[in-house]
Amino acid sequence: MKIGFYPGSFDPITFGHVDIATRGAKLFDKLYVAVSRNPNKKMMFSAEERFELVKEVLKDIPNIEVIRSDILTVEHCRQLGATHILRGLRAVTDYDYEFQQTNFNRTISNEIDTVFLMTEGRYSFLSSSSVRELAVFKGDVSPFVPDVVKKAIFAKLK
Ligand code: ADP
Repeated sequence: MKIGFYPGSFDPITFGHVDIATRGAKLFDKLYVAVSRNPNKKMMFSAEERFELVKEVLKDIPNIEVIRSDILTVEHCRQLGATHILRGLRAVTDYDYEFQQTNFNRTISNEIDTVFLMTEGRYSFLSSSSVRELAVFKGDVSPFVPDVVKKAIFAKLK
């Protein structure tokens, strides 16, 4: 059984993440989508809220299991028997960070490799931070996030 691990902050989950998760689920028998706590980032949603939103949005994909992650990605992969980390690539600006992170992970554990999926063109400029910013300025986030996420953003900003 081929098991993948797609980690992220998902603050909040966008159609870009959904695209990568949906396509990634076709590459593995099972795909864990891991919502990380990421203490280095200032978040709009708590870990619990992000987790619940991701679970709701991806609930119709049978081989995806949404989990929380508070430990090192490679360690978590080992515990779950995942052989591959899945990441999305938008533009060359993602490349530097991902290249560094992939090699770092490989140094910690050379059994776990990382695979990348290129985002669909229409999502290449989409990020959770741009959605958050747009929402703060009362812009319409509908083209970028599922309805349940849109509602959660507006509840949060009330
Ligand atoms: P992290 O803090 O781990 O970067 P993110 O939630 O920002 O968490 O992103 C998780 C993963 O999803 C990353 O691999 C990122 O490149 C990818 N991703 C984010 N937005 C998009 C998008 N619009 N299209 C494709 N991949 C995306």
